[in-house]
Amino acid sequence: VDKVTPAERSRIMSRVRSEDTGPEMVVRKLVHRLGYRFRLHDRKLPGQPDLVFRVRRKVIHVHGCFWHQHACARGNRQPSSRRTYWDAKLARNKARDAANAEKLAAMGWQSLVIWECELGDTEALTRRVEKFLS
Ligand SMILES: [Zn+2]
Repeated sequence: VDKVTPAERSRIMSRVRSEDTGPEMVVRKLVHRLGYRFRLHDRKLPGQPDLVFRVRRKVIHVHGCFWHQHACARGNRQPSSRRTYWDAKLARNKARDAANAEKLAAMGWQSLVIWECELGDTEALTRRVEKFLS
């Protein structure tokens, strides 16, 4: 049973969400600079992908490593408290990501996942994004 109070939960969620906002902005600016136009968080698509390129039928997800359980140092960080809550929550996130990726693929959409820890290397990131979108 989840014992986090609603107030506590919203505090945790808002902290995590603001952590996720930074990386997404970095990617948005980069893609924008490359001259591509996109929509944000299209609710009609599974998982509301962060950047949506309708004509190309492509989406980019920007994932926080901890929040989406990347296999990297940041993603492997262990919450020091409320382990049951976090373990369940993070496992659900991961399962949801996988399910959404499958649905998108079945609908003919291609996905690119950009992880928070990949944002440091702008050149490599630019190459990946250009290759994916061109
Ligand atoms: Zn990572």
